[in-house]
Amino acid sequence: MSLSLKQIAQHPTPYYYYDMSLLRQTLATIKEAISPTPNYHVHYAVKANANPLLTSEIARQGFGADCVSGGEVQACLDAGFAPQDIVFAGVGKADWEIALGLDNDIFCFNVESMPELEVINELAAERNKTARVAFRINPNIDAHTHEKITTGLNENKFGLAMEDMLPAIQRANTLNNVEYIGLHFHIGSQVLNPDFFTPLCHRINELQVQLEAEGIATHNINVGGGLGIDYENPNEHPIPDFEGYFSIFRTHLKLRPHQHLHFELGRSIVGQCGSLITKVLYMKQGHEKKFLITDAGFTELIRPALYDAKHFIENLSATTAETTVYDVVGPICESSDVFDKGVRLPLSQRGDILALRSAGAYGEVMASTYNCRSLVKGYTE
Ligand SMILES: *Cc1c(COP(=O)(O)O)cnc(C)c1O
Repeated sequence: MSLSLKQIAQHPTPYYYYDMSLLRQTLATIKEAISPTPNYHVHYAVKANANPLLTSEIARQGFGADCVSGGEVQACLDAGFAPQDIVFAGVGKADWEIALGLDNDIFCFNVESMPELEVINELAAERNKTARVAFRINPNIDAHTHEKITTGLNENKFGLAMEDMLPAIQRANTLNNVEYIGLHFHIGSQVLNPDFFTPLCHRINELQVQLEAEGIATHNINVGGGLGIDYENPNEHPIPDFEGYFSIFRTHLKLRPHQHLHFELGRSIVGQCGSLITKVLYMKQGHEKKFLITDAGFTELIRPALYDAKHFIENLSATTAETTVYDVVGPICESSDVFDKGVRLPLSQRGDILALRSAGAYGEVMASTYNCRSLVKGYTE
């Protein structure tokens, strides 16, 4: 299922190409995998990619949305997600963002601090509404992923510590304009082995027992997102192992019969369907290295610079079987603007078209205009 030049319409480079048929197959695979458990709900984590081409399709297929800002809540409403399927997390929700959620009656606020709970209560009271809230709990679990994308350990800014869970719920129960409906967790991103979610299930089981002992009813459990994708072999693994992922929760998480389980998947839904398409501007022969200088840089795809991420690079226009080793670099005036070093590629020349694969998540959405560059666009054909 390798990309071919024919598949790719001729837009000015650099641009994002989205394979909509792969996105649809991925969505169908998820629906199939959760179909035996109708109390499982998948919310698309829109921060992975907010391009309306993708979000409108995901909304059309009946998925919910997971937002981390008011802008995302608005983008999801615009894309056609039902307000009752929208959850809203984030450590620093501004008043207008909370108000937007309240005014649109979104399903739930994932609350990350006690002062935030008080503000939600006040803003809901002003509107004569009751806000549904879940508490984001930091389960202190290592997701075995890159330090910049691990979120479930004790020492980080997200959520409440486990010891603070009970007082938080008790406080919510004394407030008139919030309703405690559940617990929320998110251990990190690009978690490749679904077994790493097993300790999260055990932790939730413990917390549930603790809450039941206090007579507290919890209707919703939200286990966040984080399922990873195969960046090295996108052609062999275009669709993540959703079956294996959901079966971890079926096996290890002791849901009560009335409980709903929510997932917030971002990368695993959109990661593989996107490629950054870029042109080789120059082949520069250094003294020890050969550089391929592309017209895309970290302004279009920042993951390699930000997280040391690697994207599989394909030369779509090469006609030779002969290969050599290059450093593939962008044009931005920063030494971190390197896509990959020591990559073996077909002999390449000025004008060749490269695809940086698996760039559908945290790619276009993180683009910038640094160096006064134009904001990159995405296309489906
Ligand atoms: C980023 C994020 C997600 C999605 O993570 P993926 O790794 O893209 O699946 C889900 N929930 C929360 C709270 C997040 O911050």
